[in-house]
Amino acid sequence: MEFYLKASLKTSADPAAGKEEIEKIMAEAEKTIFAKGAPEGEGAKIKSWSLGDKSIDVELTSGRYVRVHDAVMRLKKALAESIGKTHKIGIRGVEAETFTITVPSEHDLKNKKIPYVKSVEFTDGNLVLELEVSETEMRNQVPDRILTLIEDKLEKDEYGAKAEHWNLLWESEDREFHYTEDPTEDMLKQGWLKRGAGRGQWIHGSVTTRLFRVFEQIVVEEILNPLGYDEMIFPKLVMWDIWKHSGHAKGIYPEIYYVCPPKTRDPEYWEDVMDYYKVTHEVPVEMLKDKIGDPIGGMCYAQCPPSWGFFQGETIATESLPILIFDRSGTSHRYESGGIHGIERVDEFHRIELVWLGTKEQVVETTKLLHERYAHIFNDIMDLKWRKAWVTPWFMAQEGLAGIAADEVTGTTDYEAPLPYRGPTGEWLEFQNVSINGDKYPTGFNVKSQSGEKLWSGCSGVGLERWTAAFLAQHGLDPEKWPPEIKKRFGKMPKQVKFL
Ligand code: ATP
Ligand code: ZN
Ligand code: MG
Ligand code: MG
Ligand code: MG
Repeated sequence: MEFYLKASLKTSADPAAGKEEIEKIMAEAEKTIFAKGAPEGEGAKIKSWSLGDKSIDVELTSGRYVRVHDAVMRLKKALAESIGKTHKIGIRGVEAETFTITVPSEHDLKNKKIPYVKSVEFTDGNLVLELEVSETEMRNQVPDRILTLIEDKLEKDEYGAKAEHWNLLWESEDREFHYTEDPTEDMLKQGWLKRGAGRGQWIHGSVTTRLFRVFEQIVVEEILNPLGYDEMIFPKLVMWDIWKHSGHAKGIYPEIYYVCPPKTRDPEYWEDVMDYYKVTHEVPVEMLKDKIGDPIGGMCYAQCPPSWGFFQGETIATESLPILIFDRSGTSHRYESGGIHGIERVDEFHRIELVWLGTKEQVVETTKLLHERYAHIFNDIMDLKWRKAWVTPWFMAQEGLAGIAADEVTGTTDYEAPLPYRGPTGEWLEFQNVSINGDKYPTGFNVKSQSGEKLWSGCSGVGLERWTAAFLAQHGLDPEKWPPEIKKRFGKMPKQVKFL
């Protein structure tokens, strides 16, 4: 990996007068200003330099340390101090004439439209990126971000475009299933639910709603109360700023439902829309496009990111740690692709999200307890066949990053269940996850602890549609055949509306 920069430092007068001082700085730079902060011999290098009429021109190269754009700023400062003092020559600015980054790669990039990148060439096992940057971008670390972006893209290609990491941790014993229908089809037949007007949206009747509440109550009684989680209400319309801090702004665009506010609340501004509707009985969608503002964010996608606004910028007292909270205040929305026929993959769904925050030890311990409680629920109360797998952390997947977390503690455990109607080789359904997110969120939202110890966090998303889908797929729709604990909690079948 190499950075190359040919730059021109524009001077306020002919720099020849300061040649001696300039020579001295250039001769020492690799041992002084270009070496600071780099391992021995790995700082930036000067390939050549010369003086123009009103410029000092340099060619710099570097590897990972003291990268050329950083080096040129250090050079500018040193030169300005020296010839400014002795000869009153100022340095007006830095122009990058040529700026390239060469990254080893086995293949070309698919998408070459990268901001501030003029061209991308693939030659001799290298990607050569030619940048078009001004001093501002060089100061703002744009070249570094371009390199990170390219490295992410290459790593993703290596892991396969969509492939997520998956590693089995535990699986319950095999069993025979007596029910092999698709529960959604069956529920439709029995009138338990109906399709909503929207894509991947359902209207739950009294029966499935009761079942959701049974599961929710189990979570309350078996996890939230005994472990001491307190309920909070997290926002469900999520602003870009939250997703910038959480990292989602890097990758969730294909899957979010965007939200646009009206440009004004003035009814007169909207009168033509209202009139159009009244006359045609059609909503004039094209007309609306002009009258609404830019998207301000999207509908809740992952439940926990907006909760961080509560802690953002704060220092948390030791006595408050660990913080154990949960939210069940509203729906989550995702624009899902394909296969949204049943209740297991929907565009509007219901979740309980648990969030915990504390020192690393507290977070790891909290997570352990949670896994134990979940196992108890799935084995002893819901009597499910299920398994646990170590997967690409959810935050990496949602930022569009491939691979697996760097250490053995940080990451996501998926809980999955087989759906007998899909046959013995059918894909298992992820019905929830438990994650240790390391210091990602406390760092991203600038949350500190009183003791100064680094804060960590974890979260777990209990998908009620997914629990229901897994439970019904394995046990069927007849409450008489359900495990006794569920049957008891469900009680008498609720009233159902009779349609003629
Ligand atoms: P999948 O791999 O099935 O697409 P995911 O990994 O994208 O799920 P997460 O982002 O981990 O889902 O969300 C946490 C939990 O939210 C999931 O384990 C699941 O219970 C639930 N969930 C996610 N997407 C949906 C959906 N489209 N419909 C219903 N529940 C969902
Ligand atoms: Zn979360
Ligand atoms: Mg998904
Ligand atoms: Mg997941
Ligand atoms: Mg998943």
